Amino acid sequence: MSRVVYVNGEFLPEAAAKISVFDRGFLFADAVYEVTSVVDGRLVDSAAHMTRLARSLGELRIEMPFDAGEIEMIERELIKRNGLHEGGVYLQVGRGAADRDFAFPRQVKPSLVIFTQAKKLIDNPAAEKGLAVITMPDIRWQRRDIKTVQLLAASLAKQAALDAGADDAWMVENGFVTEGTSNNAHIVVDGRIVTRPLSNEILHGITRRAMLRLAGEDGIEIEERPFTVEEAQAAAEALITSAGSFVLPVVSIDGKPVGTGKPGPVTRRLRALYIDEARQA
Ligand code: PMP
Repeated sequence: MSRVVYVNGEFLPEAAAKISVFDRGFLFADAVYEVTSVVDGRLVDSAAHMTRLARSLGELRIEMPFDAGEIEMIERELIKRNGLHEGGVYLQVGRGAADRDFAFPRQVKPSLVIFTQAKKLIDNPAAEKGLAVITMPDIRWQRRDIKTVQLLAASLAKQAALDAGADDAWMVENGFVTEGTSNNAHIVVDGRIVTRPLSNEILHGITRRAMLRLAGEDGIEIEERPFTVEEAQAAAEALITSAGSFVLPVVSIDGKPVGTGKPGPVTRRLRALYIDEARQA
């Protein structure tokens, strides 16, 4: 089935949705993106995604093409036109198209592309089976807090994990886990959630934030500090968060089982709380 895609002011069938070869997103990865999950046909935590989008654009001095409310209207229109019940909306804003030059072009209009992707988020077999991750050196740049489309290092790490028979990679820098290829990484130690603090070294995950808030409201203690691979392997539980996975258990790291090697109670509880809230959105 052909989707309807939004490109710079137009709703088009996907085959007709095109951008310029001079688009700086294509030439320089000079673009940022957001993925907002959709549950029961509704956007989850959209305001937080819009706030992060504005921040990413601000860091790169790209103008926000529309205000948040207008962008959300386009997203809702796409959800409707594509009959999307569960999955995500992908949004990309680029600096625009201009003759190739490292310097920013003057008076170029930012480009906006939005499309939907259907995906089973709630009924995900990985929630029962758990994920196997391998660890890889984090070779990405130093501004991982800006959600740019510069995703090749993460894509290479993900493929290396799949080639090794695992599900994903956790990236490691100076002995400490930074994050997953497209998710934030956490562990459970002595009943507390241990998670790396926010900095330029990781993406400030919207799902991470929601999960930590839900954990706090549920009386689970949170310790924001970096953790090592060895500590993660010895933890009671390990988990990831992202808009595309919500909260999922990690049951092995580099072939070593975490805890019992099965999804643990804290992760199960947080996933259930997250899904409950997403459904009420
Ligand atoms: N870290 C990285 C590197 C990511 O790519 C993502 C998802 N795009 C996340 C964390 C999770 O962020 P969010 O919860 O906002 O989806």
